[in-house]
Amino acid sequence: MTLREFQDSIGETYLDKDSRRGLFESYAWLVEEVGELAGALRHGKPEELAHEFSDCLAWLASLANMAGVSLEEAAQRYAGGCPRCGASPCECEDASH
Ligand SMILES: [Zn+2]
Repeated sequence: MTLREFQDSIGETYLDKDSRRGLFESYAWLVEEVGELAGALRHGKPEELAHEFSDCLAWLASLANMAGVSLEEAAQRYAGGCPRCGASPCECEDASH
């Protein structure tokens, strides 16, 4: 499955429902899922980690649908290595993206 196919699938499944909820309310759900990912990273078993990563991806894709952003196009920013220093592996002094 490509990132485009994944985002389209999430759109078919959730776009109407999430649009009714609203962009910022849906963003709050993403933040909640990121919090659950934090717990899984700290304490989780491998299957719990995959579950939380999938929830975060699904919410991120739904928000991108609502915001009119293509994740596949957005990912291109990182396709040629680090967007800041241009190297792969990154050679930036700090760890931020
Ligand atoms: Zn870099």
